[in-house]
Formats: sequence, C-alpha cells, structure tokens
Amino acid sequence: MMNLDEMLAYNEQFVSDKEYQAYQTDGLPNKRTVIFSCMDTRLLELLPKALNLKNGDVKMVKNAGAVIRDPFDSTMKSILVAIYNLQAEQVMVIGHHDCGMSKMDVPALEDKMKDRGVSEDTLATLSHSGIDLEEEFRGFRSVEESVEQSAEIIRNHPLLPEGVKVHGLAIDPETGKLDLVTRDK
Ligand SMILES: [Zn+2]
Repeated sequence: MMNLDEMLAYNEQFVSDKEYQAYQTDGLPNKRTVIFSCMDTRLLELLPKALNLKNGDVKMVKNAGAVIRDPFDSTMKSILVAIYNLQAEQVMVIGHHDCGMSKMDVPALEDKMKDRGVSEDTLATLSHSGIDLEEEFRGFRSVEESVEQSAEIIRNHPLLPEGVKVHGLAIDPETGKLDLVTRDK
C-alpha cells in the first residue's frame, strides 16, 4: 500500500525542487475537450500518452467502466460543468477492452461485502429503500455497446447545449490503440 508519510515527504521535495513548473497551466482545457474514461490503472499514463495529451489539455472524468447509466449522476454533472463553465466543446467517451466492468459478478461482489462485515440487515435496508445492487453495480458485456450507450445518454441529455459533439472510442490497455465506436455527426 502507498505510505502516507513517504508520500508527504516526496511531495515536500517535489514542491521545493519546483518540479511543478513543467506542469503549470490554467483550469481551462486547451483542447476544449472532456474525456470520460475508466479508472483502470493501465490507462493512468498510457491514455494521455497515446492521445498526445499534456497537463492542461483536457478535462478528465473517470469512473469504473466509463459508464453513465443515470443522466443526473455525478459524471454527467461533471461533463455539464466542463461544458458550461470551463469552455469544453466536445466529449470523448473512451472505454477500453478487457475492462473489469465487463466481468462484473454482482452476487460475488455482494459476498465480498458480507465477508468484510456488511450485514444482511444493511443489505435488506438498502433493498427496501429501492437500492438494487444488481442494477447499481451491473457491468457490461461489450465495451462497444457500453460506450455507445453512455455516448447516447450524453447526446440526448436535456441540458446538453446545441453543437457539442460526443464521440465514443475504445482503447486497448496494452498498446494504446484507439478504435472508433461512434462518431457524432
Ligand atoms: Zn475499465
């Protein structure tokens, strides 16, 4: 696990050596783009490198699987803020092959929760409040289908202004190769 004290010590050095100077920019995306992708560790550096992105170029929003299911979830709100307040003019949904969310086993996840101390009572209370874990955590079978679905939710959003393009792609987490899934007209 990452050690907090080591992290703080490294950071102090980083700042005192002024290493931040190479990354200084403002809060607006130079490429007027929001990228919505997956939190997969393999994409941490690979995705920006494979797309020639530097600090300051884009707004980056991530979650598990690059999945939007609910038009008013936190991802969609981030995208709208990027468009209205931060001058983004297009959205790229970038899912990836071999995504953990394509192998999601919700009953197994629920078992892990129980193993780590979440009680049957808690699960029953959630269930009675209308929280369906199967629905909340369900993954997808095809990354293309999932990207298409997320892109459609963004495109059809009632608060999306005219003229914002929403494209969908899938990236290979080994090679960084991009496949176009859906291009906005
Ligand atoms: Zn993923």
